[in-house]
Amino acid sequence: MRVGIGYDYHRLVEGRKLVLGGVEIPFGKGLAGHSDGDVLTHALCDALLGAAGLGDIGQHFPDSDPQWKDADSIQFLARVVDLLGEKSLRVAQVDCIVLAQEPKLAPHFAPMRERLAKTLGIEQAQVNVKAKTTEGLEAIGRGEAMAAQAVALLESTA
Ligand code: MG
Repeated sequence: MRVGIGYDYHRLVEGRKLVLGGVEIPFGKGLAGHSDGDVLTHALCDALLGAAGLGDIGQHFPDSDPQWKDADSIQFLARVVDLLGEKSLRVAQVDCIVLAQEPKLAPHFAPMRERLAKTLGIEQAQVNVKAKTTEGLEAIGRGEAMAAQAVALLESTA
């Protein structure tokens, strides 16, 4: 068994769609970033890469690379799963937290889990997503940013 942790933080801006866990969520603002800014999927990629000892998302998908401009971050996750497979590792379980003041994310957990689980090649029961506000405090609480944390447990298939 191998465990990894991931964290990410993105600014919220006007004129961008909000994508979390590969799911587009109706909201007046979206996350800035070179890719689609999907903070949850980025944190999850980092947890998986960390568990596998494969560095971090910036090494694999540099934001200087034009091919990742406005990219669907689910592509990153799919590539990470391929890298795990090359190391004879598979995902046993992941747990994630999105830190956001608004909008209410609970109605979107089911589609997020579905898309993430499908990309990871596992059952929805092995993927948990939850959300917290910061009680109105600091940049996240003021609606200026969102963050995400993830942990991943991998098991060997060898
Ligand atoms: Mg990111």
